[in-house]
Amino acid sequence: MDCLFCKIIARSIPATIVAEDDHCLAFRDINPQAPTHILVIPKEHVPSLNEMTDPALAGRVLAFARDLAVKEGIADRGYRVVINTNAEAGQTMFHLHAHLLGGREQGWPPG
Ligand code: AMP
Ligand code: ZN
Repeated sequence: MDCLFCKIIARSIPATIVAEDDHCLAFRDINPQAPTHILVIPKEHVPSLNEMTDPALAGRVLAFARDLAVKEGIADRGYRVVINTNAEAGQTMFHLHAHLLGGREQGWPPG
């Protein structure tokens, strides 16, 4: 599988991994857009939210991101969890991932 995020799961390419359980892995975004910018991915390869068939997978990713927001100290201040899906939303990595963004004021609507 020629997927960079699968390679991060396999530890065949490096990443700053911050948390892991049986189903999810979290690592710091290489090009952070906020003081906290962590990617949460399922260990199962799913290209995007469009191909996700098991809603429990999305629930695990979301709860994992929430737990990390607590650990990062941004849960009370506020944070955003974003899943870009396909071209118009700006998805560039086709292994489902949630961005956890926080530590600064964030505008609405997003760009
Ligand atoms: P998206 O545009 O939603 O597909 O987001 C992909 C994200 O992956 C971007 O924020 C990139 O900065 C990030 N990214 C790409 N390659 C790596 C990498 N090797 N390690 C960590 N983050 C990465
Ligand atoms: Zn993958």
